[in-house]
Amino acid sequence: MGWGVSRYALDRILLERALELGAVFHSERATAPTIVATGRHPSSATRPRLFGFKAHFSGPLSDSVDLYFSSRTYVGVNVVENGVTNVCGLAPEDVLARSHFDPDPLLSTDSLRARLRNHHRLMDWLITGPIVCDSRTRVCSPLVAGDALSFVDPFTGTGILNAILTGWLAGSASARGLSPESYEKACSSALELCFQSAALIRSALASGWAEFLLPFVPGSLLVRATRPKIRLNQ
Ligand SMILES: Cc1cc2nc3c(=O)[nH]c(=O)nc-3n(C[C@H](O)[C@H](O)[C@H](O)COP(=O)(O)OP(=O)(O)OC[C@H]3O[C@@H](n4cnc5c(N)ncnc54)[C@H](O)[C@@H]3O)c2cc1C
Repeated sequence: MGWGVSRYALDRILLERALELGAVFHSERATAPTIVATGRHPSSATRPRLFGFKAHFSGPLSDSVDLYFSSRTYVGVNVVENGVTNVCGLAPEDVLARSHFDPDPLLSTDSLRARLRNHHRLMDWLITGPIVCDSRTRVCSPLVAGDALSFVDPFTGTGILNAILTGWLAGSASARGLSPESYEKACSSALELCFQSAALIRSALASGWAEFLLPFVPGSLLVRATRPKIRLNQ
């Protein structure tokens, strides 16, 4: 069973909680920020470049989290808050270009058609890219957190968890006056295994071995290997 919240809802919950705890919200841009969490930075990508797409749908609810891989695309489907179904995926530029960057035709495989039967799209597709998986953690001042620090493969489903974790580590390092190097060490030890596992899974998928190996790898191991190590006393 899967529980999901959209990024919009999570942002609102986090902001409301921060305000309750006494944080002060400033909408203007900081001239000398302590922590930078501005999302993925533009990087040059090798071709074919990968693009991400996402939209919310209404329709029958299911408590499963369903991942669909075809030879060149990935689509994930799960329910988030208020009975909304989130559909997001990755596809190479040439595949999307064939439909003028409209992801709808990518949902026409038998399994996805069955999963999304009687569903209706509630919004225009959001498209982002090029997506470059970047698993470095760098020593920086100001401290860098979230996707601005590193971007892990979306199929691991841990981008938001990693962003919250590194934001927490950066806030904690900054409040305690720790060096950027010790922040980097904390990030590396939390994220190294999930970066390595994601790279391994990506190469198994690319080489076509993933389907043969899947029956021998317990799901719980895959989940553990792609989650960051969280130590509550950090
Ligand atoms: C196709 C796709 C599918 C994904 N699926 C999942 C999933 O299933 N589960 C999961 O956990 N993660 C998923 N992710 C990853 C997840 O979206 C990111 O890891 C997460 O959003 C990172 O959060 P962030 O706050 O670091 O960056 P962002 O979410 O990019 O937020 C950065 C914010 O900073 C703002 N900003 C930028 N510049 C400035 C500036 N100069 N001043 C002020 N504000 C600025 C931006 O407007 C933005 O609001 C997916 C990503 C993609 C592309």
